[in-house]
Amino acid sequence: MIKKATTFDFQNTYADNLNGLYKECIADPVPSPKMLLFNYGLAEELELDPFIFSSDYGLSIFSGNEIPEGSNPIAQAYAGHQFGNFNPHLGDGRALLLGEIVDIHKQLKDIQLKGSGITPFSRRGDGKSALGPVLREYLISESMHAMGIPTTRSLAAIDSGENVLRESSLPGGILTRIASSHIRIGTFEYASKLKDKNQIKKLADYSIARHYPDTVKVENSYLAFFAGICNEQASLIANWMSVGFIHGVMNTDNMTISGETIDYGPCAFMDEYHPATVFSSIDKQGRYAYANQPAILTWNLTRLAETLIPLVHDEKEESIKLLTEVLQLIKPVYENFWLMNMRSKIGLSKEDPKDYELINNFLEIMKDEKIDFTLAFRVLSKALTGDMAIARNLFNNSKKFDVWFMHWQERVSQENVPDEDIVNAMNKINPIYIPRNHKVEEALFSAVHKNDMEPFSNLLSVLMNPYEENEGNESYALPSPNPEIPFKTFCGT
Ligand code: AMP
Ligand code: MG
Repeated sequence: MIKKATTFDFQNTYADNLNGLYKECIADPVPSPKMLLFNYGLAEELELDPFIFSSDYGLSIFSGNEIPEGSNPIAQAYAGHQFGNFNPHLGDGRALLLGEIVDIHKQLKDIQLKGSGITPFSRRGDGKSALGPVLREYLISESMHAMGIPTTRSLAAIDSGENVLRESSLPGGILTRIASSHIRIGTFEYASKLKDKNQIKKLADYSIARHYPDTVKVENSYLAFFAGICNEQASLIANWMSVGFIHGVMNTDNMTISGETIDYGPCAFMDEYHPATVFSSIDKQGRYAYANQPAILTWNLTRLAETLIPLVHDEKEESIKLLTEVLQLIKPVYENFWLMNMRSKIGLSKEDPKDYELINNFLEIMKDEKIDFTLAFRVLSKALTGDMAIARNLFNNSKKFDVWFMHWQERVSQENVPDEDIVNAMNKINPIYIPRNHKVEEALFSAVHKNDMEPFSNLLSVLMNPYEENEGNESYALPSPNPEIPFKTFCGT
């Protein structure tokens, strides 16, 4: 790596403040990198100097071949519970934090390279990424953002020009990931296991200042900080549930304290609704199945709470009592977010105690009739405009659906809002285009094995407008024509 002056306005607050929670490290150079995707909209939000992307300079930065001036690259240390088992030594095994910059909203953002080579945390890994998973993360994270769901973002995807060895030899890739920070529950688990008891306080103070600055003023700021994280993560999982997103690997090292979705390894969107849906080939027990995600939320936050015991109160018993009180609120807080989301999805803005039952009955029918989760909500608004046939058809002309529809119409009429407004509101919250698994696979296959980015670019551009139905894009809205082939995902980039 060659050092060179640049136009980035880097800060290195993590490195400056959290000695002991990272190792300095540089990227491995790659022979002939090629920029495959660059996110100009995001670059604008980050107020990047256009020189960075209008010249080969960006390519050398985002491929790891040059260290920009002001950057102090580090690999972050973290631990984590993976599928329930504690691993004290994880850390960025294939990622490098270049530094932080302030975006257009005055928020500090991490710029991280993923797949840039061996770090002190690589263990037996090669520190690299295959291109397919890099493109997959780019696509799905940007699609999540377009749906308004908090997520890390993707700035650039690079074909590294070299192959990486997985089960076969595959083209390599590097992703430039942008995040509010990469601090995970696992970062707290790592800090709390260190001999230096001050580390957990330093990490909490840094995280509070960066993510929950309002809690500084509160009497017990560490407890308020914890409650803030619980709230953000509960909201996030409720958002995932409302679009049928299955993260697939909700280990504590993959859960950010900012509440952004991170690490898009084995994730996927559900087509046919079933609460037990799992896509990840390694999740044999279904620990991270669709319907288990809310329970895992609490499980993970309990691991975080354990690390905060020394900070919340001088007396351990009192500390545990206070943290437990917050933990007990996660379920009701989550359920409230979920109910709010689901109400909106079926066009309701007022509250009726029977709404919970109404929504669950709808889900039950979807499950019994094996209905596509995304389309189910979209056809409801169509039916309200009078196009009942399309909804009845989707629901296999089921009597149960007809009865449910009558109840729903009665409930909608209580809103005292013109149907047209309800339909518009529903179409703004229920996506028509999600990253359908078969479409994602098709696009990745062309990009990686045929050197053809066109299907990928088309899919990406459709997903950037998830709510607006456009002529010509019909195939993007439909589930796989071969549902009998079960879709499986694999970990790792
Ligand atoms: P993940 O399940 O993708 O979140 O990764 C879990 C851990 O494995 C993290 O510490 C990663 O940095 C590490 N890891 C995954 N793939 C590699 C790789 N190819 N080389 C080195 N470390 C890796
Ligand atoms: Mg991870």
